[in-house]
Amino acid sequence: YLKISSINKSFGEEKPVLMNFSLDIDRGQVISLVGESGSGKSTLLRIIAGLENKNSGDVFLEGEQILSPKEKLVPGYDEIQLVFQEYQLFPNSTVEENIGRPLIRYDKKYKKQRIEELLKLLNLEPFRNKLPRQLSGGQQQKVAIGRALSLEPQVLLLDEPFSSLDTIQRRELIFELKEIFQKLQVTVVFVTHDLDDALQMTDSLVIMHQGKLIQRGSPEDIFEKPKNIYAAKLFSHLN
Ligand code: ATP
Ligand code: MG
Repeated sequence: YLKISSINKSFGEEKPVLMNFSLDIDRGQVISLVGESGSGKSTLLRIIAGLENKNSGDVFLEGEQILSPKEKLVPGYDEIQLVFQEYQLFPNSTVEENIGRPLIRYDKKYKKQRIEELLKLLNLEPFRNKLPRQLSGGQQQKVAIGRALSLEPQVLLLDEPFSSLDTIQRRELIFELKEIFQKLQVTVVFVTHDLDDALQMTDSLVIMHQGKLIQRGSPEDIFEKPKNIYAAKLFSHLN
């Protein structure tokens, strides 16, 4: 369904950021991609979303090739939406306006209806007329996710979306979002360097280290048979 095939990427003469990275994800599957800072997670997501060039390799969504920026004219794809750590909301627009922003090309009636659906889905109805600065970090991130979902993407890529929240806020938000993703049957790649967050989100883990896919499996698999020291270390505090 989402097929990432032998991606290689380096920036100039620097050492490669992604090395022969391949990963297949089923429709509606939620996976957590765990890796330390600098391991290439954001670069990978940007390549999947068609926002970054690659040296070699391919990305396919339902057999359809996702092209790099240099291979096409328009940036990004509606079907694949990327949410960043920084919420990047429009500070002078309300919750409603932020969520509806990508729907600019659609007719008013549909836009209104879609915004209502999303406010309800994300439990943001009471905040519809608030500005981002009047919301908590978790609520702001929900608005960013609502905005990403407005075009009904097939794939949602979350790049350390909760890093600026405290542990309790993160737990609550992950709990809420898990249910929403399940309901929508959207395919999600949840990127984090926090194993506990990864485990809260899903049992389907992908461990990445220095640009390579080290291991894919359930927490039990990786805990019992870690494929390298990084994978073992990730789980060591659970001993
Ligand atoms: P973090 O957890 O800190 O967000 P990450 O796993 O997302 O890290 P990337 O942001 O993908 O890692 O970066 C991987 C490597 O690529 C890093 O060494 C980074 O310095 C380098 N890199 C990323 N973007 C660029 C760029 N535009 N130009 C040059 N080097 C870059
Ligand atoms: Mg990153």
